Amino acid sequence: MQWEKDARQSIDQIPIHDSIRKLLVVWAEKLARQRQSGTVTMEDVRQTGSDYSRHFGAEKMKKIGEARRSGLSDTDLDIQDSLNREPALFRIELCHSRFFGCPNDLIDVKELGARIRQKLEELSVTEIIADKAREVLMPHSMFTVSVSGCSNMCTAPESKELGIHGVARPVVTDRECSECGRCLTACLDRIISLHGGRPVINFDYCRLCGACIRACPTGAIAASTQGVRILAGGTIGRFARYGREIFKMTDSETIFGVLEALALLLKSEWSEDHEDHFSLLLSRIGVAPLYEHMGITGCKTQPK
Ligand code: SF4
Ligand code: SF4
Ligand code: SF4
Repeated sequence: MQWEKDARQSIDQIPIHDSIRKLLVVWAEKLARQRQSGTVTMEDVRQTGSDYSRHFGAEKMKKIGEARRSGLSDTDLDIQDSLNREPALFRIELCHSRFFGCPNDLIDVKELGARIRQKLEELSVTEIIADKAREVLMPHSMFTVSVSGCSNMCTAPESKELGIHGVARPVVTDRECSECGRCLTACLDRIISLHGGRPVINFDYCRLCGACIRACPTGAIAASTQGVRILAGGTIGRFARYGREIFKMTDSETIFGVLEALALLLKSEWSEDHEDHFSLLLSRIGVAPLYEHMGITGCKTQPK
């Protein structure tokens, strides 16, 4: 696909992360193809800007504009870089909401990422892992904490040692339903239907993404609770496995209790004879000791 010089320059100047910029480029090329043209023009770029503005919303576009005017680069804006700059055996991954927010986010990933880093430092997680390691330290020695703003889980938290993402539980209220159908299309899992003029949600398959809550103009669907889902023990590579759900929905402060319990487990249960990875440790001992370290025992208090 060819690009008019101005068009390409214009898209290159937008102060967004390169991975998103590439998506804008592909979108603009799609628009050109729709015109049955082999060249992207400024009009395609303008249309791309308008399509993405609609998606991101006015507030985020204002922040992007301000960053552009002050000449900030991706690196200047990327808190993830600064969180991982110092030598450490943990890594914090944050979804793209870390730049200017995201229409889907349910938690402040920047604020959480900074607090998690501070906690991992306080708990001396680097020193604990280093002291237990049998071999020289390699990238797979890292303890990664992945934080995503919503159930879309753009950082793949289910494949990291500790995964966190924002969640919101919908509830059907007694407010009027206009039968507009917006919730039906907003729900990517297609688990909402309308019966007798009222929305019905199949909660067995609800991912707590909050999309139906945002889409509903009348409040017939609203948020009953909001918080985070926490997964532990995921990894990719040699011993690939999904993280286990530790909390389906809890408040963000619980993350710090989980981190304390994980640090205690690493110290007390990590076996130089058996494990080279946290996910193997969790597979061997199960998740019950983690709850015990958090003071959670018995069926009544076990998280769902
Ligand atoms: S995980 Fe959700 S909030 Fe974060 S960038 Fe993806 S869609 Fe947006
Ligand atoms: S929270 Fe998400 S998955 Fe659950 S019903 Fe609403 S849109 Fe569907
Ligand atoms: S529940 Fe809300 S979004 Fe869904 S059809 Fe009714 S008014 Fe529209």
